[in-house]
Amino acid sequence: MTETRDISSPERLHIISSELSALARQHGRAPDDVTLIAVSKTHPASVILPVLDAGHRVFGENRVQEAAEKWPALRATYDDVELHLIGALQSNKAAQAVALFDVIHSLDRPKLAAALARAMAETGRRPQLFIQVNTGDEPQKAGISVADLPAFVAQCRVDHNLPLAGLMCLPPVGEAPGPHFALLDKLARSLDLACLSMGMSADYAAAVSQGATHVRLGTAVFGPRGG
Ligand SMILES: *Cc1c(COP(=O)(O)O)cnc(C)c1O
Repeated sequence: MTETRDISSPERLHIISSELSALARQHGRAPDDVTLIAVSKTHPASVILPVLDAGHRVFGENRVQEAAEKWPALRATYDDVELHLIGALQSNKAAQAVALFDVIHSLDRPKLAAALARAMAETGRRPQLFIQVNTGDEPQKAGISVADLPAFVAQCRVDHNLPLAGLMCLPPVGEAPGPHFALLDKLARSLDLACLSMGMSADYAAAVSQGATHVRLGTAVFGPRGG
């Protein structure tokens, strides 16, 4: 194994932020055009705190329950945190998710759209929503199919008046992500949606070059999970 200097999470975040600005500029975009979501799933508060102390405020979690256990206490000190739900959401947890998160990236079916609309009407809170698209048409994967997307977007807008921000995808493992990112960009343009949540630690450069506005980075910021 090569010897590597032990870089802290705030240092990694700083380096990646600079890289994202440079990539955005290279593609003719404003340097602050890409939002870095620091994915803190599985990491305890002690690991998250140095990143908060360094000034970062945008975080992602993939489970409602875990976020409910960790974030209220952190938010008591850092009240300007913006919390993103990036994992699957059950309809019966929609109300809890609406109460806890500022942005939800996993809207992918009519029943969940209805549950979110109900929770928003009841609470008055309106988190921004990304529709997750199953760009690889993988049977086991979450996300609305490409074929069903236009009708679903119309339903979210017309029937539920939901605050749609954009589209999200997770390219199939083992495939080049580029074509999936390009497809998501094309779909978002055709549906007049401004934001693209795409790109993780292994492929964020490709995602930004294809127009990502939100990258979701866990390992690249915090190091390996459970290791
Ligand atoms: C865990 C997760 C990420 C971050 O993954 P890394 O490879 O660690 O950057 C991004 N998006 C989703 C949906 C995730 O579940």
